[in-house]
Amino acid sequence: MATTLTTQDHSRDVAGLTYIYPVLSRRAGGISVGINFNVNNACNWRCVYCQVPGLSVGSAPDIDLLKLREELYFFLAYVDSGRFYSDFSVDPNCRDIKDISISGNGEPTSLASFGEAIEVVKEVLERRSKLGQIKLVLITNGSLLHRESVRCGLALWGALGGHVWFKLDSATVTGRELINSTMIPVERIMENIKVTGEVCELWLQTCLFDYPGKISFDGEVRAYQLFLQEIRIKAKIQGVYLYTIARPPLQPEARVIAPVQGYQLDRVADSIRRIGFRVQVSY
Ligand code: SF4
Repeated sequence: MATTLTTQDHSRDVAGLTYIYPVLSRRAGGISVGINFNVNNACNWRCVYCQVPGLSVGSAPDIDLLKLREELYFFLAYVDSGRFYSDFSVDPNCRDIKDISISGNGEPTSLASFGEAIEVVKEVLERRSKLGQIKLVLITNGSLLHRESVRCGLALWGALGGHVWFKLDSATVTGRELINSTMIPVERIMENIKVTGEVCELWLQTCLFDYPGKISFDGEVRAYQLFLQEIRIKAKIQGVYLYTIARPPLQPEARVIAPVQGYQLDRVADSIRRIGFRVQVSY
């Protein structure tokens, strides 16, 4: 196979599998093994910076759990054999699995069999003797974490040592409507953060960007700081991950929105540290 895997390649079908895809991750600094439940490119949100091609409104379809098991087992064995690295000409400095991330073309917790899918991941990791060896990350918009079935899956994820990256782009109703196309109330966000932090290592992930004529950057940051001051007392949060738009969004608003500068990220990061959080910044 004459293919080179680079950090620019975020295609979900690069390895020819349905649910599993490798990414050379700038966030992780190596190979991230992605798991995509949303093979229909459907999400319950529509973020203006979303990079999912042909994004539609909806939930993940029913998935083939047997196929998920086979693909994850196959891919981990493929990497362990070393053939994946040579087939894809992976940079020798990046020949390591940094994490397994449930991060799809849509909201992964919208999968009806989310809990069963986590059981499958657990089973495969046990069979490949990987439990506790590889960081596990669930990337979620957090909006469905009040569902009982999702909470069961989250509890198992936490028992496996799983981390949760919980999206929080705006602490205002207007901001969430304009940025994420959601009307989720702040009380539900707080409750979902609280419940998640009780069972998993929880990080908030926040995308900062300019949205001229729609969003006041300074106003959003002030509301965000107030939110963090309140949630810090109520919930167990490991830290905050700040980033900006790194690749061209695939939504109509792509013409209008723009990344913020590094110094703006640094300024917000410092203010969050003063509130008492650990902060990671991705430029
Ligand atoms: S939550 Fe994620 S997948 Fe869904 S619209 Fe937003 S960026 Fe896209």
